[in-house]
Amino acid sequence: MKNSGKVWLVGAGPGDITLLTLKALQCIQQADVIIYDRLVNPKILDGCSVNCTCINVGKSPGYHCVPQEEINALLIQHARTHRNIVRLKGGDPYVFGRGAEEVECLVEEGIAFEVVPGISSAIGGLACAGIPVTHRDLASGFHVVTGHTREGNQQQDWRQLAKLNGTLVIVMGIANLPFICEELLMGGKSPDTPAAIVMSATRENQRRLTCTLGTLLTKAQEANIVPPALIVVGDVVRLSDRLSFIPEVMERVYSESCS
Ligand code: SAH
Repeated sequence: MKNSGKVWLVGAGPGDITLLTLKALQCIQQADVIIYDRLVNPKILDGCSVNCTCINVGKSPGYHCVPQEEINALLIQHARTHRNIVRLKGGDPYVFGRGAEEVECLVEEGIAFEVVPGISSAIGGLACAGIPVTHRDLASGFHVVTGHTREGNQQQDWRQLAKLNGTLVIVMGIANLPFICEELLMGGKSPDTPAAIVMSATRENQRRLTCTLGTLLTKAQEANIVPPALIVVGDVVRLSDRLSFIPEVMERVYSESCS
């Protein structure tokens, strides 16, 4: 049986399992195989059927558990032997999730696929920490960039990014924070610009640190910030105390949908 299956590239949202879309939930329930990443809340897997095989290909920063080529090979192999293969990724699969690389490989192999978008941590994760990425008076746009670029690829031009208006959201930036802060300041960003780090957004251990760009590095070091975390630079951070909230835990909704 060649290429009998379909691969669903599914966004699992930022962490809170009730931030899954209905379509994502349905994919998980119908999956024969789920291949999931480190940032996916493992509780989501409670929704799959007893016959479903779940494969963890989680990557830690700086250490790739399963190389990308092997993940691609796994997708192809399972698509040839199973009907519904779910490739589950944190947040949205096309926001720094290598989703496009995996779909390109499926296209090359003639394997059917569908993309199920998810709530990206870069927007939804910040919202749950009281930070709106835009605001009519404070930010007319936002830029989501990676703080970690692949070796050999074009590096981020932080000094140019410093000149842009709007909110700057940096994912995968914690390890590179000293350089990022220094370069943004060198690029002319005022040290008084409000800045924040949101750690484990939408999860039980969510933490938010707010300060200014000038104090961000020291504060982050004092607070012992560890990934996953988002760095935000921009005036919208000023709203975060006023707009933050304690979310209601609604996990029962998920377990009921799963049963
Ligand atoms: N596709 C994902 C992003 C993958 S890149 C999305 O749309 O959200 C991985 C980076 O995303 C992490 O290093 C971190 O910067 C950010 N991230 C993902 N989930 C997060 C969370 N719950 N809290 C804070 N940052 C998160």
